[in-house]
Amino acid sequence: MELPARMRRGEMLLVAGPCSAESRGQVLRTAEALSDIGVGVLRAGLWKPRTHPDTFQGVGVEGLSWLTEARRKTGMLIATEVATPDHLLAALDARVDVVWLGARTVANPFAVQALADILAAREGELPTVLVKNPISPDVELWIGALQRLWNAGVRRLAAVHRGFVSGHSAPLRNAPQWEVAIALRCECPELPMLCDPSHIAGDCALVADIAQEALDMGFDGLMIESHIAPEHALSDASQQLTPEQLGTLLSGLRPRRKGDASEELNLFRRQVDDCDRELLETLARRMEVVERIGRIKRRDGIAVVQPDRFKQVLARQLELAAALGLDADFVARVYALVHDQAAKRQLGDEQNDL
Ligand code: PEP
Ligand code: MN
Repeated sequence: MELPARMRRGEMLLVAGPCSAESRGQVLRTAEALSDIGVGVLRAGLWKPRTHPDTFQGVGVEGLSWLTEARRKTGMLIATEVATPDHLLAALDARVDVVWLGARTVANPFAVQALADILAAREGELPTVLVKNPISPDVELWIGALQRLWNAGVRRLAAVHRGFVSGHSAPLRNAPQWEVAIALRCECPELPMLCDPSHIAGDCALVADIAQEALDMGFDGLMIESHIAPEHALSDASQQLTPEQLGTLLSGLRPRRKGDASEELNLFRRQVDDCDRELLETLARRMEVVERIGRIKRRDGIAVVQPDRFKQVLARQLELAAALGLDADFVARVYALVHDQAAKRQLGDEQNDL
């Protein structure tokens, strides 16, 4: 999938700019400073999906002329969020190069379809469309939104991972739950994926580490919030970097090559494949023994679930895990699944016999 060349900065894709467009001066000054550090696509929200109605809601359509002026003066492409048909029609009229669908919009298939319908009916070139993840960790909902846009004829399409609303994300604002992004990557390997470390972090001091983690994981690029004077920002002040800070962050990043795996890597991959086979063979053997135990319990009238026995097994395995350098939480979760499956196998055996 070909994205605009201006989105590329060195090895990666990059979109940066303020959370919100606030004034003509703020947009132009931020754009110029970002252009100087090699940012090719300027983002700025015009319509802001704020939680509370008494906070800054965005400048709306008025800010479009600031963005187009910034594009004229710097040669950058411009990007903004669209959530309703009115937003999209205004952005199309201004020939906005990149539009993104925000996390709250992607959570609503009716809203996504309404936007897709407008794009499907549009003659001529369509903008690049970025689709953020929905606020809940539901990969199918994310894929569904991407499909609606693909079906509408959008071919310059990319996903943006911005983390998920969760009660357990501290110190981050949104929980990364990387596994959801990895599931999307496995499902749609051709789809370019950006990470938005600003909304995951919620704190400018944490943005760089998340950005690096995303590149280490194989993301194709980043969307980062940057404001000429973050302390005066009208939205998301705590997570925005100055263009100078962004320049420092970018020069400190270590991009990762896609490329073919080396012989050395393949050697270790074969070892992992062997471990995986042994793991499943051991699990299968364990389940066979469990079924025998199930038959004995039934013969002797003993309940399938024996909490004390499970506690003992778990305590012993956690001790072993510590000695082997395995994470306790990980091992506890694996054992909860193994125990659950073992109980099902014992019950299943019983039902099969009936
Ligand atoms: C934004 O990018 O400023 C924004 C509101 O994003 P999200 O939809 O990820 O919250
Ligand atoms: Mn924001």
